[in-house]
Amino acid sequence: MENEHNITIIGSTGSIGTQTLEVADEYPNIKIHGLSAQSNIELLEKQIRKYKPKVAAVVDEEKAKELKIKVSDTNTKIVSGNEGVCEVATVDGADLVVTAVVGISGLKPTIEAIKQKKNIALANKETLVTGGHIVTKLCKQYGVEILPVDSEHSAIFQSMQGFDKKDIKKIILTASGGPFFGKTKDELSKVTLEDALKHPNWNMGAKVTIDSSTLVNKGLEVIEAKWLFGVDASQIKVLVHRQSVVHSMVEYKDNGVMAQLGAPDMKLPIQYAITYPKRLPMRGNELDFSKYSSLTFQEPDMETFYALKLAYDAARIGGSVPTVFNSADEEAVELFRQRKISYLDITRLIGEAMERIENIENPSIEQIFEVEKEARRVVREMAD
Ligand code: NDP
Ligand code: MG
Repeated sequence: MENEHNITIIGSTGSIGTQTLEVADEYPNIKIHGLSAQSNIELLEKQIRKYKPKVAAVVDEEKAKELKIKVSDTNTKIVSGNEGVCEVATVDGADLVVTAVVGISGLKPTIEAIKQKKNIALANKETLVTGGHIVTKLCKQYGVEILPVDSEHSAIFQSMQGFDKKDIKKIILTASGGPFFGKTKDELSKVTLEDALKHPNWNMGAKVTIDSSTLVNKGLEVIEAKWLFGVDASQIKVLVHRQSVVHSMVEYKDNGVMAQLGAPDMKLPIQYAITYPKRLPMRGNELDFSKYSSLTFQEPDMETFYALKLAYDAARIGGSVPTVFNSADEEAVELFRQRKISYLDITRLIGEAMERIENIENPSIEQIFEVEKEARRVVREMAD
């Protein structure tokens, strides 16, 4: 049927996943063919009953068994493990995959989906950070489009409509600055897990919230932008914009700057990625300019928040260094959430892992996962 959007969602129980389903609630012509979770089978069961997907995956094997019994009265096939997530990503009938899983777990299912010629609505930035060189090549080979869901990248993409990529001079990636903007290293040494889990403007999953506070998230976004828009890291400029109204900008060769503005709400980028190139009506959350007496832009403090500097190094060097940056962060954030390391240790451990692990140029998928393991091992070892 024309105007029908057939989608599948990996990571449907998370922040982006549930908001994607809220977008689908507004548009019955968005059909859900697959859903997946790591372990939250309570929510996944509700989603299965409501959206009636063909297939649903649970990474945790025991939980998958439990769910299978619970939903045995439905027609949804329950699969498990990482292979199960790949099955959801490649399910028949869907032509677009929303990659809403967190971490490097997004890489394999995204690659499998591309090989099945499914377009990608990409929230999982870690996929491009670790495997950008492979994923972009495969997209060309299979004629697949990546539609950004990350709000900044969606803003850039929207600011590119009607223009030629070749005319881009610079990308200006805005950053809220997170909850600790303006703080000194000394003040940061006292930050607790609870402090780091509070974001001033956005309501997101735990990992991306902590990454936003360290500016690791912005760093991952620099690398993501490099692959998505085919620019050099030196053409990407990060600016702190506390109000999160200008979601990012593109400066062209004639010095003209295009920007996309809106209330901080992920539903617009999610909806745009699904229904592109249409701009369908959206209820609520209009941007009220009268609420803002000023919009401010400042340079980021890359000395205090030097994770951003490390990300630029990783983007410039390439190879397996971005995988080390990403995986060291994933491990360090996990240790921080278990209260085993301090807040400042996160960035310190990423830097040390980058120094210790030798770069592999043009790594294969297998090598990326070996580097991931090594980075996690090094971080755990140094944290002890
Ligand atoms: P959440 O932590 O809220 O959700 C993650 C989802 O992935 C859940 O469905 C979770 O299942 C599942 N999951 C967790 N670990 C694994 C794993 N190892 N393998 C397979 N599935 C797994 O994350 P967010 O929605 O916040 O973020 C998702 C992605 O989107 C990230 O890459 C993030 O950087 C990006 N992003 C998020 C934004 C946001 O506003 N949240 C904004 C821009 C980008 P379960 O519920 O069972 O744990
Ligand atoms: Mg973002």
